[in-house]
Amino acid sequence: MLIKTNAPEETSQVGRYLGAACRGGETILLEGDLGAGKTTFTQGLAAGLDVDGPVVSPTFIVLREYEGRLPLYHFDFYRLEGSGRAVDLEFDDYLSAGGVCVIEWPSSAPELVPDDYLLVTIRAAGPAARELVFAASDARHQALIDALSAALAATTTTAATTVP
Ligand code: ADP
Ligand code: MG
Repeated sequence: MLIKTNAPEETSQVGRYLGAACRGGETILLEGDLGAGKTTFTQGLAAGLDVDGPVVSPTFIVLREYEGRLPLYHFDFYRLEGSGRAVDLEFDDYLSAGGVCVIEWPSSAPELVPDDYLLVTIRAAGPAARELVFAASDARHQALIDALSAALAATTTTAATTVP
């Protein structure tokens, strides 16, 4: 599925619908260049999990943890650069903790990425235009895409458009 947005608030709202659809145990991988909107998307996702307070980029640390309807584990592998094995054991614990794991720059530590995930690739298509491509590895994460698609179809409060 491809969604086009034209403002940060729209990308955030798409994230919010996705967060609202999460039931626990999901892994969401965020690919995209610096400034694409990965953290903006995660801020919306946190709102969809009823996380209070600001969500900031975890770039200078590997993980920030937030308490919401479900726990949100926001990872940024940007600086791991292949040293991922060092945190391997602990990472598995987060995956099985029943929360929602969001991973920015998963390709920096592919050995840590689990088999089942929702991959969101964000690319800039202009100064404020973004294209968000959603791909699921399994039925459980495909259900998130279906829920997101339904939420967007039902809303009149965002101009984010779904391209079939
Ligand atoms: P990343 O985490 O991918 O490095 P950020 O979310 O931190 O990216 O930053 C995205 C930047 O792009 C922000 O400054 C945001 O205001 C800007 N921006 C402009 N248009 C959009 C859009 N449609 N969606 C998301 N961000 C946008
Ligand atoms: Mg970021």
